[in-house]
Amino acid sequence: YDTDNLHENAYTETMLISDAFNKMLGRLKILDDSRQEFVSNVSHELKTPLTSMKVLADSLLAQEGAPAELYQEFMEDIAAEIERENKIINDLLSLVKLDKTSADLNIKSENINDLLELILKRLRPIAVQHNIEVVFESFRPVIAEVDEVKLTLAISNLVENAIKYNHEEGWVHVSLNADYKYFYIKVADSGIGIPEDAVEHIFERFYRVDKSHSREIGGTGLGLAIAKNAILMHRGIVKVHSKEGEGTTFTVRVPLTYIA
Ligand code: ADP
Repeated sequence: YDTDNLHENAYTETMLISDAFNKMLGRLKILDDSRQEFVSNVSHELKTPLTSMKVLADSLLAQEGAPAELYQEFMEDIAAEIERENKIINDLLSLVKLDKTSADLNIKSENINDLLELILKRLRPIAVQHNIEVVFESFRPVIAEVDEVKLTLAISNLVENAIKYNHEEGWVHVSLNADYKYFYIKVADSGIGIPEDAVEHIFERFYRVDKSHSREIGGTGLGLAIAKNAILMHRGIVKVHSKEGEGTTFTVRVPLTYIA
């Protein structure tokens, strides 16, 4: 035997195993950190509307014989905070559902043209309120294997954002195309755009470019995290191209056939 060599091999192997072990520990640590951060973010986000409600209620109670108009005004603010709390909880539930394994996917052959038309029909009333024109362009009829509910959730979030982060009298352009392997959905807007250094963060949970502005228009910072998860579950990808002050385009690419 070449004992030196054997020794060396055993040594290399031990190094490899301990390397792999350390890498795994590192990954677990990252997972644990991000879980802790998520929980602390959730608590913070859920507490904010509660704190506002408490302040509003306390200040009403402190004013003896407050006029009915003041009650009315404060109750409207409280109702708005309740609605916000509700939206955060609903978004969180959507996200948690999507975090489960893809065994929960309900894949069926769907007409993607119809699916998009339906999404736009639901969201047009919001766009009309802000004089925003929503246009749909289909380059071909597309039938694909998708979970209709989850894909709808993803694309609705993108279109909602395109409307929310737009200017009065702006436009939203949704298009559908396909090749032999994938279908492509583009959601382009003429909106405020995303600052260059923020683009890499927008899919993170609770991330918002402008917290106060986003809060004003009812954002939770979870919409894009939900959209990305739903698209990844379909083995798809989502990309973003944006220019501040000019607009944003999200491109979604999903396989026509679901790959388990
Ligand atoms: P929110 O509930 O705040 O809309 P999202 O996760 O959907 O949360 O989006 C995260 C952030 O990314 C938003 O707060 C906004 O700052 C930015 N953003 C998303 N979509 C667009 C868009 N189409 N145009 C400009 N900014 C956008």
